[in-house]
Amino acid sequence: MKHKIKILHLEDLKSDAELIERELVKAGIDFQKLVVDNKSDYENAIESFVPDIVLSDNNLPSFDSTGALQILKVKRPGIPFILVTSSMPDEFAVTMLKQGASDYVLKDRLQRLPSAVLGALEKKRTEEIKDKALSELQTTHDMLLFHLENSPMGFIEWDNQLKIKSLSKQAEEIFGWTLDEFNASGRDGYTQVHEEDLAKVKRVGEQLLSGNIKRNKFQHRNYKKDGSVIWCEWFNSVMKDKDGNVTTIMSLVQDITEQKLAEENLKQSEARLKEAQAIAHLGSWQLNFKTGIALWSEEACRIYGLSTDENKQSFESWLAFIHPEDLPSVLAEVEDQIKSLRNSRLDHRIILKNGSIRHIHTESRFELDGNGVPIAIYGIALDTTERHQSHVELLRSEAMLKEAQAIAHTSSWEVDLVTNKQRWSDEFYTIYGITEKEVQPSTEAFLSFMHPEDFAHAQQKILEGFEKLHNSSFTYRFIKKDGTVRTGYTEWKFDFDNSGKPTRIYGIVTDITERKEAEELLQSKNAELIKRNMELDKFVYSVSHDLRAPLTSVLGVVNMAKEDTDDIVIHNHLGLIESCVKRLDVFIRDILDYAYNSKNEVKYEQINFKDLLQDVTRNLKFNNGARKVDVNLHVNESKIFIGDKERIGVVLNNLISNAAWYQNPSATNPMVDIKIDMTDTETNIIVKDNGIGISKEYQPRIFDMFYRASQSSVGSGLGLYIVKEIVEKLNGRIEVASEPGLGTTFNIQLPAATTVK
Ligand code: ADP
Repeated sequence: MKHKIKILHLEDLKSDAELIERELVKAGIDFQKLVVDNKSDYENAIESFVPDIVLSDNNLPSFDSTGALQILKVKRPGIPFILVTSSMPDEFAVTMLKQGASDYVLKDRLQRLPSAVLGALEKKRTEEIKDKALSELQTTHDMLLFHLENSPMGFIEWDNQLKIKSLSKQAEEIFGWTLDEFNASGRDGYTQVHEEDLAKVKRVGEQLLSGNIKRNKFQHRNYKKDGSVIWCEWFNSVMKDKDGNVTTIMSLVQDITEQKLAEENLKQSEARLKEAQAIAHLGSWQLNFKTGIALWSEEACRIYGLSTDENKQSFESWLAFIHPEDLPSVLAEVEDQIKSLRNSRLDHRIILKNGSIRHIHTESRFELDGNGVPIAIYGIALDTTERHQSHVELLRSEAMLKEAQAIAHTSSWEVDLVTNKQRWSDEFYTIYGITEKEVQPSTEAFLSFMHPEDFAHAQQKILEGFEKLHNSSFTYRFIKKDGTVRTGYTEWKFDFDNSGKPTRIYGIVTDITERKEAEELLQSKNAELIKRNMELDKFVYSVSHDLRAPLTSVLGVVNMAKEDTDDIVIHNHLGLIESCVKRLDVFIRDILDYAYNSKNEVKYEQINFKDLLQDVTRNLKFNNGARKVDVNLHVNESKIFIGDKERIGVVLNNLISNAAWYQNPSATNPMVDIKIDMTDTETNIIVKDNGIGISKEYQPRIFDMFYRASQSSVGSGLGLYIVKEIVEKLNGRIEVASEPGLGTTFNIQLPAATTVK
C-alpha cells in the first residue's frame, strides 16, 4: 500500500493552514498533515510524527523559519523544507535556499505548492537512491580493495604508457617496489620483463594497448627490484573510455616461481624416470578394467619391440607376446591373482614381432575402489634377457674354471673379512681328499692338514700376512685324509676398501707334488750333468795336453829321421807322417782352446793389441812357410782396451790362420787387415783378408762344428766354431761377409768391459 505523505506544517494562522491543505487536496496529493505553531511542538512533531516534508511559514510569534530549518537539519537531515510565506525579500529566499531549504512558495501563489512538495520529495527520493547507491558502491569498493589487499595476487593498474597508476600491497611485495619508487625510477612495465621473454611480452602488450583484445592471461619471467628473476602469471584486462580509447590496463599478478620450479622438477623427474626406465630396461604399464586399455610406458614399448606410439595395448595383445611354452604358467598365475587379488611376480619369455626372444620379469598389483573392487592393475616389466644370458655365461665360466682347476690341480679360496666367511673351491676339497660336508672352510682347518714339520713355518707366514697385509706365498707339505703326504703351494692377495681397510683375502692352493718331484729330479740330473761335463772337460784337457808332448817328440824324431836318410821314398813317408802329426797337433790345440773356453771364467785385463798380435802370429795354427800373409794392425792407440786377452788371442789366431791358409793363389800380396776400435759400449774387431772367399751357399754353416767349406781345408773344422763360442761367451756378436775370389771379412762386436756383467 502506498504510504501517505506526512506533512508537518509550521503555521500560526489557521486559515492559511486550511488554505494550503485545500490546495494540496485539490492537487490530489494523498497526505496526512500535522500543523504546529511553536518551537516545542515543532521539535516534538519531528521526533514523533516523523514527517516526510516540512512546510514552514516565515514569521511566527515565538519562532521563525530559519530556526525551524536549523532544527530540522540537525534532527532529520535530508527531510525537505519548503518555505510557504506571504512575502519575502529575495535575499532572504536565497539565504534560506543556501542554508538548505528545498524551495519557497508565496502564499498568493499557492497553486505552485503541490508541484514544489512533490518535486522536493522526488528530489529527496532521488538523493536517497543516489546515497544508497553511493554507499553500496563504497561498500563494494571497500570490499574489493580489501579483497585485493588480502589476495595472494598483486594488483597493478597501468596507464596506456604502461606507467603504474596504482599498486596493491601484494604487488609491492611481489616486485619489491613501492608505487612512488617505481615511478621515480623512470621504469615502465617492459623494463621489468626478463630479456628472453621481452619480445613475446611486447607483442601481447601491444595487442592490449591497441584495444584489439579485452583481456589475456600470460606467464613470463620478471625482474624484482633486487634484480632477481621470478616467474609471474598475469591476468590483464583492458579498460576503455567512452570513445573506445584504451585508458587503463588492470593486471592481477601472481608469483608462480615455486609452482614453475615444481613443474620443472616434475618435468625433470619424469624425464629422469624415463631415463632410469631405459637404463634399467624397466617398463611400466597400467590396465584400466573399465576401458580395457593398457597404457604402456615408452620403455615397456621398447622392451616389447614396439614403437613408442604403440603404447595403447590390451590384456589380449599382451598375451599374444608370451612365449607359447610359458603361456600356461602365465595364465595360471593371472587366474590365481585375479581370484585372490594379490600382488604377483612372474618370470616369462616373450617373442617379439621380429622373432627374437626376451626374458621378462613382471610384477603387478591391483588398484581397488572404495568398495574394494579392482578398477585397474598396474605393474612393471623388467627386461632380464642380459641378466639371464650373463647368468648362463656365468654358469658356463664357472664350469670351465672348475675344469681348469681340476686339470691344473689348482684350487681357489677366499675370506670375506667383513663377514668373516671363508670359501674353498671344489678343487680345494679334491686336493685334500675331503668333502664339503666333512670340513668347514677356516684357517684352522687349513692348518690342521699341515705336515708337523711345516706347521710352524705355515702359521708364521699366515700371521705375518695378516699383520702386514702383504701379498704372500709359501710352499708346504700337507697330509691328505688318506694319509699321503703331498706338497702344496699357496699364494694370496688382499682387497681394500677406499679407507684402506682390508675387505677380502683371496688366493690359490695348488698341489705341486708332481711338479716338485719333477723339479727335484731335474735338479739332480742337472747337477750330475754339470759334474760329468766338468769331468769330461778335464779329461779332454788332460788327454789333449798329455798328447801334445809325445806328438812334439814324434815330430822331433821324424825331423831327425828326415835328416838321417837320403832315401827319397823314406823322406816322403816321413813328410806324410810329419803333416799328419801337425794336423793332429792343430786338432789337439783346437780341442784345448775349446776346453779352455768352456772351462774357465771370463777374465778382464788391459790388452796391448800390438803385443798380443806378435804372440798370435808367432803361434799361427798352420805354420807353413809357403803360406805367409802380411798382417796389418790398425788400432786406436789413444784408447785403453779392456778384455779377455786369452780368448781374444785365440779368436785372432784362428782368423789370421785361416786368412793365411785360405789365401788367393793369384794374389800377389796376401794380406789380412785387422782394425780394432772401441766406443763407450763396444769393442769392434774387423778382420779382413783378400783370400779365396767363401761361396754364398756355405756361408751360413761356416760356424758349425767340424764344418769345412772347401776341399783345401786342412783344419779340423773346429776353428770358427771355437771363435763363435768365445764371442758368445763374451756376450758379443760375429758376422761374416765374403765374396769368392775377393776375400772375407769377419766383424766382431764385444760389449765394453764396463757393461759386461
Ligand atoms: P778349418 O779348420 O777347416 O779351417 P774353420 O772352422 O776355421 O775350419 O773354417 C771352416 C771353413 O770355412 C773352412 O774349412 C774354410 O773352408 C772356410 N774358411 C774359413 N776361413 C776362411 C777364410 N778366411 N777364407 C776362405 N775360407 C775360409
